[in-house]
Amino acid sequence: MDSHVMELPRIIQIGYGVLKEAGRFLSKFSPERVLIVSGPVVWAKVSKVVEDALRGWGFTYSCLQVNYSTSKEVELAEKVAREFKADLIVGLGGGRSVDVAKLASYNCGAMFVSMPTSASHDGIASPFASIKGGNRPYSYNTKPPIGVLADVDLIAQAPRRLLASGCGDLVSKITAVRDWMLARDEKHEYYGKYAANLALMSAEIVLSEAKGIGGGGKEYVRDLVEALISAGVAAGIAGSSRPCSGSEHLFSHALDIIAPNIGLHGEKCGLGALMMAKLYNLDWERLRCALRDVNAPVSALDLGLDADRVAEALVLAPALRPERYTILHKLRLSFEDAKALAKDVEVI
Ligand SMILES: [Zn+2]
Repeated sequence: MDSHVMELPRIIQIGYGVLKEAGRFLSKFSPERVLIVSGPVVWAKVSKVVEDALRGWGFTYSCLQVNYSTSKEVELAEKVAREFKADLIVGLGGGRSVDVAKLASYNCGAMFVSMPTSASHDGIASPFASIKGGNRPYSYNTKPPIGVLADVDLIAQAPRRLLASGCGDLVSKITAVRDWMLARDEKHEYYGKYAANLALMSAEIVLSEAKGIGGGGKEYVRDLVEALISAGVAAGIAGSSRPCSGSEHLFSHALDIIAPNIGLHGEKCGLGALMMAKLYNLDWERLRCALRDVNAPVSALDLGLDADRVAEALVLAPALRPERYTILHKLRLSFEDAKALAKDVEVI
């Protein structure tokens, strides 16, 4: 690659109780008409704070509630945004609302602002949107948010399982970066050391602070959110999802197909990272310890998954993105190899 484009968020505000400043924050982008995409549970919880915050800043707003993150919701959000003539779309909620708002704003050319209410994956600040029901099993490459407003108080109140999932997504950067190095060495792919190191640093935070994060202290939640934002920024700097997503993510996407609706994205990536770490002769036990400490699943059983599904997913994974060279493309595991690998790291 002779050149590549870096797209990054322009303003990121993170702190305790900052949702109260949503109006002031949005006014920095001078919008005229703002569409908020949120979920019913989140909206019921925060609508009063948000509506109080938005009044008096000189723009009109409307809210669309979505339940899922499928291409149908994205189409609906686009239609509503066009009818409302929105020039800025806010994704307010967990992964789903943020992803729907991200892809819809990209498709209709509106600005996009991310206001996460949970820390379950690195989509908070990344250019990638994970949408189900489209023509591909992995994520869409869009644009990163122009702004991110992250209220740590709110995120710390989200179910603990979501925080643990965010940790799984972060430790998976360790194997994602290895896959990226492999593609550099064997396929002469562009490799950005800075973006790679930034992604690794966000994984390291989880490894070194796992006990604190597991305890749920707010200062640790803040570190976790900053690490998730930073991982998204690493993808923006790389100009691709390479630093954040490798074979462990393909494994997670394969499980989405083979065993739909079991486990969260980051939980599945965490399990995948354990197995890929073993393939790379990395210290998978250290990863396992950290996942345990943050109360993330470390086995198929923890996740409610059948052992054979894990092996099937390992075999299917490389076929989902033939062009994204990883250790699974290199090794092409058989079903038996896959089972042995999962057993080695006690995933099954
Ligand atoms: Zn991820």
